[in-house]
Amino acid sequence: MPRTVLLTRCVPPRDELDVAQANGASTRRKIPDGDRVQYIAPVEQRRRLRNALRPILWVLIASGVALSAHPIVHVARTAVRENALAPLAPVWAAGGVEDASRLDSTPVLRIVRLPAEEGPAIELLRRVLVDARARQVPVSIAGARHSMGGQTVTSGGIVVDMLPLNGMELDESRRVLHVQAGARWEEVIPFLGAHGLSVSVMQSDSPFTVGGSLSVNCHGWQNDRPPIASTVESFRLMLADGRIVRCSRTENAELFAAALGGYGLFGIILDADLSVVPDARYRIERTRVGSAGYVEALDARVRSDPIGLAYGRLNVTRERFLPYRLHASRDQFARAYPMQAAFFSLKRTVDPDEVFQNQFYRAYGGPPSTRAR
Ligand SMILES: Cc1cc2nc3c(=O)[nH]c(=O)nc-3n(C[C@H](O)[C@H](O)[C@H](O)COP(=O)(O)OP(=O)(O)OC[C@H]3O[C@@H](n4cnc5c(N)ncnc54)[C@H](O)[C@@H]3O)c2cc1C
Repeated sequence: MPRTVLLTRCVPPRDELDVAQANGASTRRKIPDGDRVQYIAPVEQRRRLRNALRPILWVLIASGVALSAHPIVHVARTAVRENALAPLAPVWAAGGVEDASRLDSTPVLRIVRLPAEEGPAIELLRRVLVDARARQVPVSIAGARHSMGGQTVTSGGIVVDMLPLNGMELDESRRVLHVQAGARWEEVIPFLGAHGLSVSVMQSDSPFTVGGSLSVNCHGWQNDRPPIASTVESFRLMLADGRIVRCSRTENAELFAAALGGYGLFGIILDADLSVVPDARYRIERTRVGSAGYVEALDARVRSDPIGLAYGRLNVTRERFLPYRLHASRDQFARAYPMQAAFFSLKRTVDPDEVFQNQFYRAYGGPPSTRAR
């Protein structure tokens, strides 16, 4: 028996249907609208979706800005400050040398810029030393020039810029870094970090060169550790006559001890073998104490826990600021450093023509004719 099926269909008005078909009927969407059904074209669908999402998007953007505002402002301010500080880095002033303080421009005869390759650099150094001895012009050695007060240079002398000699190699099995003297810690640390290693003793900051650090025998923040000399296995030293000698605790031991902390007065350190240690991550803790109780507080702190690095910074106000200057009289210097006579006497044995000089030597160690005071 035939069955009757009632089909009901809601048809949009003719003109609306035409529009829907013209816009692509297959993608149009039906939405109920009272008794009728509306057909919405894709463009309109997207517009409605956009409108619905817009407030959510604004909330997300506002939250993102609120969360990242502090770090963005911090990074921007740091970038501005760093740019402002950049000109404070030591420059080679016209006809002179400045250190990081830029307070003591010292006129010099010549600045020797070494080539980066070791062979030609050594050749050039030898020629400079022969020339300097022949003309009796003193030679000073410059690392990153962060020792301030102008005492590391000699007025009217020759200055050798060691920075281009900055190569390094690692003997991982012995944990020994072979590094040229002009390399800065900021180059050494990432190199070692890639091998999970680090230097064992260094200063509080990293722009300094290996040669400059060895020549002042810098101390680190490492608790209960002697200065950097304790991490040096050996180094090569170019003497005033151009000879290169290896110095270690067993080879040229006297020179080894004198040139570490020798302020460039014994010769030019070309490269060094430093013992290195596994890298470690430290947690920082800061405590503020009055200067009167500082020594006791630091002592108690470093004895109570195993502490890797410990350091106290004095609040240096304008009234109490003691700049890096050769203020001490020769008597005061001699009392502060009882070994100074032996140090300067060895210097004159190793370098009888006094080729290697600086203001410090002239003030405290040189013969009376060259003494500045
Ligand atoms: C911000 C700041 C933080 C510091 N923190 C510390 C610290 O924590 N501990 C510390 O002990 N000191 C510290 N110092 C001092 C610092 O260790 C010395 O100034 C160090 O010498 C800087 O190295 P440099 O490469 O700038 O050397 P330079 O200033 O260039 O040279 C220093 C001396 O080494 C001689 N010299 C340089 N290269 C050679 C070479 N290849 N052969 C022979 N002689 C050479 C120079 O003739 C000069 O007498 C700090 C200094 C500053 C500015």
